[in-house]
Amino acid sequence: MKVLVTGAAGFIGYHVSKRLLERGDEVVGIDNVNDYYDPQIKEARLRLLDEASRKTNAGYHFIRGNLADKSVVDACFADHAFDRVIHLAAQAGVRYSLENPHAYVESNIIAYTNMLEACRNNSVAHLTYASTSSVYGANTDMPFSEHRPADHPLQFYAATKRANELMAHSYSHLFGLPTTGLRFFTVYGPWGRPDMALFLFTKNILAGEPIKLFNNGNHTRDFTYVEDIAEGVVRASDSPATGNAAWDSSRPDPATSNAPWRIFNIGNNNPVKLTAYVEALENALGRKAIVELLPLQPGDVPDTFADTSALEQAVGYRPTTTVTEGVGRFVEWYQAYFGRG
Ligand code: NAD
Repeated sequence: MKVLVTGAAGFIGYHVSKRLLERGDEVVGIDNVNDYYDPQIKEARLRLLDEASRKTNAGYHFIRGNLADKSVVDACFADHAFDRVIHLAAQAGVRYSLENPHAYVESNIIAYTNMLEACRNNSVAHLTYASTSSVYGANTDMPFSEHRPADHPLQFYAATKRANELMAHSYSHLFGLPTTGLRFFTVYGPWGRPDMALFLFTKNILAGEPIKLFNNGNHTRDFTYVEDIAEGVVRASDSPATGNAAWDSSRPDPATSNAPWRIFNIGNNNPVKLTAYVEALENALGRKAIVELLPLQPGDVPDTFADTSALEQAVGYRPTTTVTEGVGRFVEWYQAYFGRG
């Protein structure tokens, strides 16, 4: 099995690549190692992937390149024949998208189009790609189910991810490209992103600086442990989307019913209040946080909660790691990587 993993130097891409290498798949990773956050952490993840491939003797090759450049994508597909593609490269981040929309157009629309074209032209058997719980917008109907329309994303980031789902649909429908979109719910764990809450909170608590809790700490999030996400991604990629896209049989859509297209939530199905997440972190660190309560920010979604039944039915898996376990493993990693602070 030869798999292309885009965004391999990223948080989730690293964990997915590692999982594939450990089971002996041949992996080609591609990433432009951009500086949205400290690229040192991306370089460290890449070194670990090199090590993992040496330990398992799995074939591994890394390409440093920008997927928004069509010639980079074309060269990658000319050099390798992929059985499957797992597309995780993107401009992530909700808040950053409020001020930097063009970065999202480049990485989430142009690069994504290049990937769709390459998969189509090279008859890739299955494209699995990252979407986000943010496509649900300020949906208050819990838990979030894939049956529900997701037509009012609150931020530009979510709008580009929703666009990815619709673009995938057109390629599945018109060209028969099997696609699976995975809506990730707030992913956390070792090698986590320095721009995300858990990392920022840990850094500030260790430095004795205040942490900011938006929405006065009343957010709830369906925090999902990264190794559970990696397992779900690999399992979904292993079972290509087949014939029937009409996931909602009560609302059949004749225009889509033959497209091998599907979308799944991957979340923990167990929302946790932000204050409880902080408490788990305080316990793992053995230190108290200085908390600054702030109002709901523009573009913020108050609550997220994944219905994971569709994923479970399709691939026999759903995430199970609790926040106490997962935050503990994050803290172990953080202290090993940065020292005890
Ligand atoms: P990340 O930023 O750590 O990883 C993304 C990687 O893609 C980075 O290493 C970056 O250098 C690379 N990249 C970006 N644009 C590129 C381009 N044009 N060409 C080549 N490489 C490029 O983010 P992550 O948390 O690992 O997220 C992975 C995917 O999951 C993204 O699609 C993200 O939108 C999605 N997602 C993440 C979360 C989460 O909580 N982490 C939640 C929902 C969805």
